[in-house]
Amino acid sequence: MKTIGVLGGMSWESSLDWYRMANEQVRQELGGFHSAPILLDSLDFAEIEAMQASGEWDAAGDLLASHARGLEAAGAGLVVLCTNTMHLVADRITEAISVPFLHIADSTAEAITAARLRTVGLLGTAFTMEQEFYRDRLASHGITALIPDAENRAAVHRIIYEELVQGVVTEESRRTYGDVIERLVDAGAEGIILGCTEIELLITQRDADVPVFPTTALHVAAALKAAGL
Ligand code: GLU
Repeated sequence: MKTIGVLGGMSWESSLDWYRMANEQVRQELGGFHSAPILLDSLDFAEIEAMQASGEWDAAGDLLASHARGLEAAGAGLVVLCTNTMHLVADRITEAISVPFLHIADSTAEAITAARLRTVGLLGTAFTMEQEFYRDRLASHGITALIPDAENRAAVHRIIYEELVQGVVTEESRRTYGDVIERLVDAGAEGIILGCTEIELLITQRDADVPVFPTTALHVAAALKAAGL
């Protein structure tokens, strides 16, 4: 297997799950003492969050690109970025390295296409829901993403930053997300993208009447496949 270069720490709560799931899948497939060959570069999320809040996307792109180069230099055969939001600067990372970069929206889109769905609801940070980079990437796969209204987007975003990236999971927030999901389904969503890597800490398939697409789990599976598992 190729070594997977992982840009993580955004937040570490979800990177932990990424790392655990990757190793569990390798153990399940290969058995014995096998585990996933991973180089993990876990950034300080405070630095990233400050750049997001002040809109310094170019600086964030440069920073992530230089970390991606470091992973390649250290021997990574492919690179992944364990956050949906920071895929806003995916092009900068792709340009900076010569090994493949696995876009999280592509792995998600492939699962949606395999489920024969075309219109899905998208939950994530305000950046992911409101800016075009993520929905455009889905659209390039023929998938239309519906987003919640402004009030519900604010609630979804607030719960990510004030709770989930801090490791806080509450029943109240699960109910809030459940209500937002219901509205998206009423508006025509045939499935729901858990388009922030921490949402899987809160929401599972049990919380929705339509298929959910957990971006962390789908990204792990795609990375292992690309690495040769
Ligand atoms: N991990 C989250 C995501 O997938 C949000 C944290 C971040 O802004 O990077 O978008």
